[in-house]
Amino acid sequence: MANADDFYAHLRSELQSIREAGLFKSERIITSHQGAVVQTNEGREVINLCANNYLGLSSHPQVIEAAHEALRTHGYGLSSVRFICGTQDIHKTLEQRIARFLGTEDTILYAAAFDANGGLFEPLLGEQDAIISDELNHASIIDGIRLCKAKRFRYKHNDLADLQAQLQAADAAGARFKLVFTDGVFSMDGTIAQLDKIREICDRHGALLGIDECHASGFLGKTGRGTHEHRGVFGKIDIITGTLGKALGGASGGFTTGRKEVIELLRQRSRPYLFSNTVAPSIVGGSIAVLDILEGSTELRDKLEANTAYFREAIQAAGFEIKPGTHPITPIMVYDAVKAQQLSARLLELGVYAVGFFYPVVPKGQARIRVQISAVHERHHLEKAVAAFTQAGRELGLIPA
Ligand SMILES: *Cc1c(COP(=O)(O)O)cnc(C)c1O
Repeated sequence: MANADDFYAHLRSELQSIREAGLFKSERIITSHQGAVVQTNEGREVINLCANNYLGLSSHPQVIEAAHEALRTHGYGLSSVRFICGTQDIHKTLEQRIARFLGTEDTILYAAAFDANGGLFEPLLGEQDAIISDELNHASIIDGIRLCKAKRFRYKHNDLADLQAQLQAADAAGARFKLVFTDGVFSMDGTIAQLDKIREICDRHGALLGIDECHASGFLGKTGRGTHEHRGVFGKIDIITGTLGKALGGASGGFTTGRKEVIELLRQRSRPYLFSNTVAPSIVGGSIAVLDILEGSTELRDKLEANTAYFREAIQAAGFEIKPGTHPITPIMVYDAVKAQQLSARLLELGVYAVGFFYPVVPKGQARIRVQISAVHERHHLEKAVAAFTQAGRELGLIPA
């Protein structure tokens, strides 16, 4: 019989095998605000190319001031779930503001988008129903679907023919309601889901359509509403989940937004909402300020778009291969995992912080540096980043000298 000592020895050996496989994730410590430049605990200032701070709002003075104000007027926290004594006026305001911004009827807040997805499916669908999910959907969607009794169908990533085939399979299996669910934007490649076509296919099959907008809300589309605006189907998505922890301020918090009856039922039955604490007032106040900024002007998303176009062009001119597209997520392909790590390490020495991704986060042989452009970057940051990539890429033989 194994005892507790054996258990801890077992964990040490698991950790060792993660290290030996080269998959151990270590965390770099930064000592500054999030921004175009961050300071590391070694006292170095490096250009930051790996935050989800798409609009630069995580250190925006107006957002910080609004968070301070909410802290003063509404306190540090609620010490309660929403339905006991955790709902303040500002929570209701933020829920309405998100619904208005995204073209829906009502919104429910969660502690994180992970919880929004985790608590979405089980309350809405039962064993007679079907969920048809893109195979590369985010981990939180996969976990949420696992918690639900609905029949599960997976379609090949971004593959409309297979989506139709899986919808037919769901019909053949006698599904009552069908929900197609996809990331609006896929975070490893920056691929933007073909929502216009997916909507058409869903309509033909009488299916509902839900999307996760974590990498889109706030900046994709002409006024930053997201993938539905970008693809011309604003107001035509049944369910949208999203985060307050990326473009929309960068603190934390998530939401589901959609039709009134969906949101009302989630408030009654969604477990991460019912059994987890209210979003802190400072985050709620900050998030309302974020929406004020974004509804007031498209300046930030316009700058992000211009920065992205500049960087994508310049890094290719330097000789690197990128995944084509227009999203600020710019995957710079290295293919070899060791080279990707070497490139990332050398970039850091040259004052540029960008991390490598390799198997199992991306398929084997598809290692890359994933750069994320922000509106907080100025042209000189991007020029310096491209120069560092060029120098390191030549040294490592990734681009011609
Ligand atoms: C980041 C992310 C999440 C999780 O968001 P949190 O609010 O940090 O929990 C969920 N889905 C997708 C697609 C994401 O990129």
